[in-house]
This record gives sequence, C-alpha cells and structure tokens, in this order.
Amino acid sequence: MEIKKNIELKDYLTMKIGGKAAYLVDITNKHDVVDVMNWVKEHHIKFFVLGGGSNTLAKDEGFDGIIIHNMIKGIKKIHEDSTSATFCVGAGEILDHFIHYTVQNNLSGMEAMSMIPGTIGATPVQNVGAYGQEIADTFVELTAYDTSTNEFVTLSKKDLHFSYRNSILKHEAWGRYIICDVTVCLNKSLPKPPFYAQVQKTLDEQDIHDYTPQTIRETVIKIRTQKLPDPHLIPNSGSFFKNSVITTEQLNELNKEYPELKGFVVDENHVKISTGWLIDQSGLKGQKIGHMRVHDKNALVLTNLDAKSYHDLASAREIIKARVYERFGITIEQEVLEIA
Ligand SMILES: Cc1cc2nc3c(=O)[nH]c(=O)nc-3n(C[C@H](O)[C@H](O)[C@H](O)COP(=O)(O)OP(=O)(O)OC[C@H]3O[C@@H](n4cnc5c(N)ncnc54)[C@H](O)[C@@H]3O)c2cc1C
Repeated sequence: MEIKKNIELKDYLTMKIGGKAAYLVDITNKHDVVDVMNWVKEHHIKFFVLGGGSNTLAKDEGFDGIIIHNMIKGIKKIHEDSTSATFCVGAGEILDHFIHYTVQNNLSGMEAMSMIPGTIGATPVQNVGAYGQEIADTFVELTAYDTSTNEFVTLSKKDLHFSYRNSILKHEAWGRYIICDVTVCLNKSLPKPPFYAQVQKTLDEQDIHDYTPQTIRETVIKIRTQKLPDPHLIPNSGSFFKNSVITTEQLNELNKEYPELKGFVVDENHVKISTGWLIDQSGLKGQKIGHMRVHDKNALVLTNLDAKSYHDLASAREIIKARVYERFGITIEQEVLEIA
C-alpha cells in the first residue's frame, strides 16, 4: 500500500476541477482498508472515500487529509438457481463493466442503469438508478468497514433505508463506512414491459419487440448518448442540481401560467418538480456562464468548458441559482457531493 503525497484531485474527478489532496492511497483489498485506517488514526488525519469521482467535487483549497481511492475489484458468483444468480462485486468495479457482464449472461435487473459512470461501491450511497431501475431493486447486502467501531460489518437493504436517490449513506451515515463489496441478485427471466416511457418509445422507433437485457441496454445507451455529455470528452458530474421540492400551493400557482409543469407527490403538502425545467424556463439551457455551460440537451447538467477552478464553477452555480430564484422564487440545491 503506497501513500502518495500532493495529488491533483481534478485527475480523479469527472468535473476536472479542484485543488490537491495532501495524501491519496489506492486500496485493492480489505487488508489495505485496515492498514490505511490505522495510518489515519496514527496521524490524526481526515479521510474521504472516492470511487470514480463522477458525483464528487473538490474545492480549490483541496483536501487536507487522505483520499481512500477504492479499487477493490472482483466479481464472484455466490449463488445460482433456476430463476436467479447472485454476485458479490468488489466496490471498485466499474458499474457499467459489471452491467455489461450481467447482460452478456442474459441476466436482467440492472440493464436500464447502463452507462451510469462510477463504481458499484458508490451505488448504494445515493441509490443510483435510471430509466425505471435502481440499485435497491437488485441489492442484497454490502460489506463495509465501519470507521466508528473499527470492524467489518454487513449491511442489508433494510439497514440502508433506500428511497429515491437516497440512503442513510448520504445522510446520517455519510463518511462512516468504507464499502468493500456489494452483493446483488439478478433475474434469469427476460425484462418485461411496462418500461420507462422513453425507453419504450425508443424501442418502438427501432421496431424492437424482442425485449432482452441486451436490447434494453442498447436502447438505454442510445438514449443516454443523445442526452448526456460523455464525461471523458466534456467534463461534468451528471445532474448537478437536485429536483426541487415545493408546496402544493406553489405548484397550483405555477400551473396557472404553466399547465404543462408536473408535480410528483412527496407528501400531502409537497411535490417534486423538475429543476431542469426551472433552469430551462429561466432561459439558461445551453447557455455559457463564465467558464461553464448548462448542457443544451439537459439543463440539469452543468459542463466544464474551460474552468480551471472551483471558484469558476461556484460563480456559474450562483448565477443559475439566482436566475431561477428571480424567475420562480424557488431556491434550487446542488446534488453533487463535495470532498470535506
Ligand atoms: C454523465 C453522468 C451521468 C450520470 N447519470 C446518473 C444516473 O443516470 N443516475 C444516477 O443515479 N447517477 C448518475 N450520475 C452520478 C454518478 O454516476 C453516480 O452517483 C455514481 O454512483 C457515482 O459513482 P462514483 O464511483 O463515481 O462515486 P464518487 O463520485 O467517487 O463518490 C460518490 C459518493 O460515494 C461515496 N463513495 C464512493 N465509493 C465509496 C465506497 N466504496 N465506500 C463508501 N463510500 C463511497 C463517496 O465518498 C461520495 O460521497 C451520473 C454522472 C455523470 C457524470
């Protein structure tokens, strides 16, 4: 286990912005986890666990601690019967590589999550999902190092309290666990409609009626390629803002002017609305704001044109927030997590 010093964080983050980390270590197995946590205690230093860096930002001042870069690999089939197959997957495995593997084996359950960047270890954190599937659907359990008790623990689906793009790992347990592997159970039966509306539309347009994990994966890849910037070519962190929760009265008021705006019930007094729509209606879709740009196909995505600093990004973010507030009186919130 080599502890590297003075590492450029932007090289590890898909937004390609941020200062330096004092230390960084690549961990490849559970022994490394124990060793690095002993080192952390010895040096009284902060730590932050990083996977593919596709949902994480770093400030210009960097991180005065150690980045634990999870590279624990391995795909093990631990159970199989006539209807399903269960795999224990190293947290550092690339999510899309694993999905490709399951699809090649004609297993369904994760094919609609194709092309989501990042590692499988990060998926339980925000219950990652897309096009009608989320990790909670196939998740069985995970193994993690609990940094508050210094022991390895197994956490079940029930322990994690998954909800829409959420789990306890993003809130009360944020930063507590170093996830080492994730166990998922895939289905041997073929994917069945109803599919997410846009997936069905694209399947129909291609005259595909043979619904297999492979055809769904290819369709999702086709949709995502058209709608989302490839972080390898255009730095970004996916959805930069959260969808907005407003009161039912606010929605009723907005619907007088914008009858097309839909609200999705959160509770009896609140609804969730599309923040992409708010940004679009504020005239910002496709707009260049300083060194950043609001993506022209999806206003929720902020891309890095030629920003060199977090400051450039923060300036653009504040302009977008102010414009939406001015137009609608709604404060939009950042979705992407920050190293702290
Ligand atoms: C172009 C693009 C499209 C995207 N589309 C989607 C989408 O459709 N749906 C969706 O849900 N997300 C999407 N995302 C967001 C992102 O891909 C997911 O959040 C993904 O799970 C992040 O994985 P990562 O390995 O890059 O995580 P990182 O950014 O490295 O980490 C994210 C968080 O998880 C924690 N973490 C990571 N690994 C571990 C571990 N082993 N143990 C403990 N904590 C850990 C980190 O501390 C951090 O808080 C998209 C991002 C991009 C850039």
